[in-house]
Amino acid sequence: MSTIPEPGMRNDVASRFAVLHGDPQPIAWARHLCPYEPVSSLARIWEHPEQSPLKLDWNESTVPPAPGVYEAIVRFLSHSNHLNWYPELASKSLTEALGRYVDLPPANILVTNGSDDALELVCKTYLGPGDRVLVPMPTYTHFLVYLEARGAKVVDYYSSDMYSNDVEGIDRALGHNTKLVYLVSPNNPTGVTYNSDEVRFLLDRHPNTLFVVDEAYFEFHGVSVVGLVREYKNLVVTRTFSKCFGIAGLRMGYLCAHDTVMHELHKLFNPKSVNRVGQIAAQACLDDLDYYKRLVEQVDEAKQMLAIELPKRGLDVHMTPANFMLVRLPDPKRFCAELETEGVYIRDRSTLPRMEGYVRVTVPTVAQVPDLLQRIDAVMARL
Ligand SMILES: *Cc1c(COP(=O)(O)O)cnc(C)c1O
Repeated sequence: MSTIPEPGMRNDVASRFAVLHGDPQPIAWARHLCPYEPVSSLARIWEHPEQSPLKLDWNESTVPPAPGVYEAIVRFLSHSNHLNWYPELASKSLTEALGRYVDLPPANILVTNGSDDALELVCKTYLGPGDRVLVPMPTYTHFLVYLEARGAKVVDYYSSDMYSNDVEGIDRALGHNTKLVYLVSPNNPTGVTYNSDEVRFLLDRHPNTLFVVDEAYFEFHGVSVVGLVREYKNLVVTRTFSKCFGIAGLRMGYLCAHDTVMHELHKLFNPKSVNRVGQIAAQACLDDLDYYKRLVEQVDEAKQMLAIELPKRGLDVHMTPANFMLVRLPDPKRFCAELETEGVYIRDRSTLPRMEGYVRVTVPTVAQVPDLLQRIDAVMARL
C-alpha cells in the first residue's frame, strides 16, 4: 500500500500551459547537436548469459576491482542508515587520499561523477557560444558533445601522422582566440601521448588558452603532466577510476588544477554529485595499489603477447601505451559482428575520420589472452 501522494493539479496546469504555448525549445545550439552515440553491448551480453563474454569494447577493466572494494561496500551497506543520507560533501576524505596518490595538495583536486563530469564542468565554466576549441583528431568523442552544448566550436586538428603527437603543429594552429585545447594522453583511440616538456611548451606559449589533458589511461602509461598544475593557471588534468581501477559502474573521476582554476570550477560544481558507494569504493582502490600494479603488469604482458600473435593471423595491429589496441581490417563491420557471435565485444571505430578500417579492442589480462585468441581463430576460419 503506497501512501505517496498522486501527482495533482500542478501537472495539469503545466500540461495546459504547454498546449497553449507549444513545446519548450532547447537552446539554439543544442537543437542541432549530434548526441554521443552510446553503443552499449550490455543488453546483448545479458541476452547470452551462457557465453562467458569478453567485453572489450569500452576499455573497462576485464577483471573485478581489488577485493577490498567489495569488502568496503559490504561493510558500508551493513549500516542501515547509509543509503538515505547524502554522500560526503565534495568527497573530502577521498580527496585527501588522492592528494597522496597524485602528490598534490587536496585543494588542487576535485572528485567528480566520472571524469566525463569533470570534462563537462570545465566546459560549463570556461566555454560560451562561439568559443573556439582545438581538438587533435581522432579523439574521445564524448568531449565534443560537452563543448558543443555550450555553443563552442570545434576546430579539428589533424597531424600528418595519426600515431605521433605534433606539438609544434598544434602550437602553430593555435590562434590567440583559441579558448581551449583538449589533449588526451594516452589518446583514445590512437595511443598518442604528450609529456610534461611538450605540454609545458604549449602552456608557456599560450597563457590565455586553457589546456585540458585527459589522462583516463594514466595508470597503464605511468607518465603524467599533473605536477604542472602547481605552476600553471591554464591547465586542467582529468583522471578516472573507470579504466585501470575497474569501477566504471560507480562513476568516479577527478580533476587536478591550479588554485585559480579551482576557484572558478567550484562555482558551478555540485558538491553532492558523487555517490557515497563510489566514494567508498575509490578509497578502497587507493588502499590496494599493489593489486593494480600487478594488474598493469598482466595487461602489459598481454600486450606483448598479442603484438606477436595477432600479426601471425594476418591482422594489422597498432598497440598503445593504454589498455587498448587498434586493429585494421578489410571489413571491420563484419569482423565485429562475427566476433560477437563468439561472445567477444569490440568497438568498430571505422566511421571516425581517419579511422577507416579500424576497430578498437581492449587488451585483457595475460590469463585471458589464450581464450581471446581461440575465439579470434574461430572467426578468422570463416572469414
Ligand atoms: C573512458 C574515457 C573517459 C570516461 O571516463 P569516466 O570517468 O568513466 O567518465 C574519459 N576520457 C577518455 C579519454 C576515456 O577513454
